[in-house]
Amino acid sequence: MFEKLKKSFGKSETKPVESEVKYEEGQVSVKPTNKPKIGYIHVSGCTGDVMSLTENYDILSTLLSDMVDIVYGQTLVDKWIHGTYAEEMPDMDLCFIEGSVCLQDEHSLIEVQEARKHSKLVAAFGSCAMNGCFTRFSRGGQQAQPKHESFVPLSDLIKVDLAIPGCPASPEIIAKSVVALINNDMDYLQPALDIANCNLACGCDLQTNVINKALCTGCGTCALACPTKAIDMIEGRPIINTNRCIKCGSCNVHCPRTWFPLDKIKKEFNL
Ligand code: SF4
Ligand code: SF4
Repeated sequence: MFEKLKKSFGKSETKPVESEVKYEEGQVSVKPTNKPKIGYIHVSGCTGDVMSLTENYDILSTLLSDMVDIVYGQTLVDKWIHGTYAEEMPDMDLCFIEGSVCLQDEHSLIEVQEARKHSKLVAAFGSCAMNGCFTRFSRGGQQAQPKHESFVPLSDLIKVDLAIPGCPASPEIIAKSVVALINNDMDYLQPALDIANCNLACGCDLQTNVINKALCTGCGTCALACPTKAIDMIEGRPIINTNRCIKCGSCNVHCPRTWFPLDKIKKEFNL
């Protein structure tokens, strides 16, 4: 896959990347200087998205050692000390936050707010962070925390700059998003910026916004994108089994009739 990344972005595999991520209200820019400082926070998620990151087998060591500095994270660095989020949290250029946030969990609430203060960019990492995904079904009552009942997407609590959707996000989209940030490729990242506060989380949204409006071309992309096989194509149109839908929003994100960035796709495939 790194060959594809190199082709897309024209970068050397071994050359250390130098960049400085800058965030200003309403716009994002990255200027070449140093390796960006990356953090990873795991709130109410399953770690599936960071597992997906590690599935970038052929570029992982280059990505983590030459291209970025991982400065904070329970899973990715051993420096993190449980319970000391405020004192220990360093400044970050980009912080990935995986999982939705439990309103009854003070630790999570403080940690994401601290992350916002310490990060130039915050990325909702995966569908739970972006739109709640299956934590939308949470209703409490389970041991050992029966009062943990309310889970909200990240953007309900803090400003989110970009989202990397999926349940989990695909390894390729994670790697390419990081490389795009490093290379200041805002063109590639624009869709991720556009869906930072996406509330389209359900197959029903696809039904309402695409199928019912006669926009569906019957391409079947939504059925392929669905991680739970909740979509069948029948007579050229998607039929959504709401009992199987986990509200990840992948069908909405992947449907070419919800958005279609022709210029970006041409650039990606050198057309
Ligand atoms: S229909 Fe499938 S892809 Fe769409 S939101 Fe539900 S689970 Fe996700
Ligand atoms: S991805 Fe969109 S256009 Fe394609 S079949 Fe699904 S709803 Fe229709």
